[in-house]
Amino acid sequence: MSQNGSNSKARVVAALMRLGIRELNELNGFSDHHEDHEPSELMPHGAPLAIRSPIDGSKLCDVGTASSMGTLNIMERAGWAFDSWRMTPAPQRGEFVRRLGLKLREFKTELAELITWEVGKIPQEALGEVQEMIDICDFAVGLSRQLHGLTIASERARHRLMEQWHPLGPVLVITAFNFPMAVWAWNAALAWVCGNPVIWKPSEKTPLCAIGVHSIVKGLLREMDSVPEGIAFLVLCDREVAHQVSWSSVKLISATGSTRMGYEIAQSAGLTRTLLELGGNNGMIVAPSADLELAVRAIVFGAVGTCGQRCTTLRRLFVHESRYLELRDRLLAAYRNLPIGDPTKPGVLVGPLIDGQAFDSMQRALEAARSEGGTVHFGERITTGVPAGGYYVRPALVEMPVRLLKEDYYGALIDFAPGDGYVDTSKMGDSIMDEETFAPILHMTRYQELERAIALHNDVSQGLSSAILTNDLREAELFCSAAGSDCGLVNVNCGTSGAEIGGAFGGEKETGGGRESGSDAWKNYMRRVTSTINWSGELPLAQGIQFEL
Ligand code: NAD
Repeated sequence: MSQNGSNSKARVVAALMRLGIRELNELNGFSDHHEDHEPSELMPHGAPLAIRSPIDGSKLCDVGTASSMGTLNIMERAGWAFDSWRMTPAPQRGEFVRRLGLKLREFKTELAELITWEVGKIPQEALGEVQEMIDICDFAVGLSRQLHGLTIASERARHRLMEQWHPLGPVLVITAFNFPMAVWAWNAALAWVCGNPVIWKPSEKTPLCAIGVHSIVKGLLREMDSVPEGIAFLVLCDREVAHQVSWSSVKLISATGSTRMGYEIAQSAGLTRTLLELGGNNGMIVAPSADLELAVRAIVFGAVGTCGQRCTTLRRLFVHESRYLELRDRLLAAYRNLPIGDPTKPGVLVGPLIDGQAFDSMQRALEAARSEGGTVHFGERITTGVPAGGYYVRPALVEMPVRLLKEDYYGALIDFAPGDGYVDTSKMGDSIMDEETFAPILHMTRYQELERAIALHNDVSQGLSSAILTNDLREAELFCSAAGSDCGLVNVNCGTSGAEIGGAFGGEKETGGGRESGSDAWKNYMRRVTSTINWSGELPLAQGIQFEL
């Protein structure tokens, strides 16, 4: 093993040990005697996963995985826990989450270290992810005293119409590799105060992050006798097993990942409720009045942070032609000087891609952009001054030709279509810019009219995050209006990434339509009951219907 490799393993072992997981070897198949894990919960009968650090490609350990039989057992136990958890007063459920928030504060450094070693995030971003878990715990504690319904005026005399929100049942949370802890926390903290057990299926690329967090949860469950142990499960398995399992007794599947995954889940879920947080292809418009100093910072953080592997990463930039060249040159200068390398080293801002597959898909996307007439700046692999074995790249800035809308292509093709009206839809203007390539590629193009730029911005199948940089109030309001951005997140004078947990998070179209985190996203984890209470002593019927016996 290389010097780097042994270093990564030693650092991960140390972080896990501080979290109470004594030996990395114990993760091999989850030995039955390990007190932090229930053997039946983990059912290590699936194929082991080899876990590698993206920092240097070194193998950290093998992790045992669950079989589909194991998941059946878990669902049954989650069902039992639900029977008592749903009748536990919500503020008491909140107490569990409050204490979890305290533990996460205590182990913030260790958890962030796991994120850095397993995902390659720089410490600032890794600490930010753990802070997001703490923030959502705080939010959920307050929420546990506010799970309120409406009282509605009844049309019948001496009747009361009211809404109540009741716990839903076991919630399955499937998470992506790029936010290996926070996304689980957004779901789990709310699901728990809402009275539901949580079953977590993390990405097969980041099981150590999940094991680290879950050992804290299990420790807390041992400290709190009043909380049923079956409210928290961790299922490590690859996507094939996750797909085969019939999650029959789960009442909500909350899944975060690619749009491909969303389609597969939606197909197999049938009528089970789903909450889907899928791929984004986020755009920004830079208007003539934009502050370019602010623009460069917002663009670079949005496009290269987490090495372009955020769902909210900035991927498409529409710049007014009057500012295009100036902004392009400032961005090129910023990109040229980006500190790229080992994320554990001070001063580094861009760490590695998750793996070689991500590198290959980045190179394919750059090739496609070239073939569409794009000019590619940077995007190459970096091999000097970085740990060998990791996939380090200089983020790419790609100048793309001015785009046509798909409807323009369609119109043009109709005009030229042969007599039978046949239109070759393969030529309808599909571009690599329409796809989410999960890597740091920023496509840049120019515009003349704002309405046209907004139409181009919206002319993709994803709808997660968007931004406009302008000091013109009318432009900002148009972008935020019903005729503006069609995304779930619409920002003015800040970038596309870096959402706060207080607002509802999620996107439209192929991003899945789900909303997690703040605002009233908690309603996804509960079922609504509308009750009519008659205290009149008569039986008047709604709509004035007479039905005399
Ligand atoms: P992925 O789709 O490959 O995997 C995500 C998770 O889904 C993993 O745990 C995987 O094992 C599981 N999975 C995949 N197919 C499944 C199936 N058929 N049945 C059950 N489980 C299945 O995604 P990834 O590469 O880990 O993450 C990157 C993607 O996630 C990007 O598209 C990114 O935009 C998206 N993402 C979206 C958000 C959001 O909030 N919208 C947040 C983070 C990441």
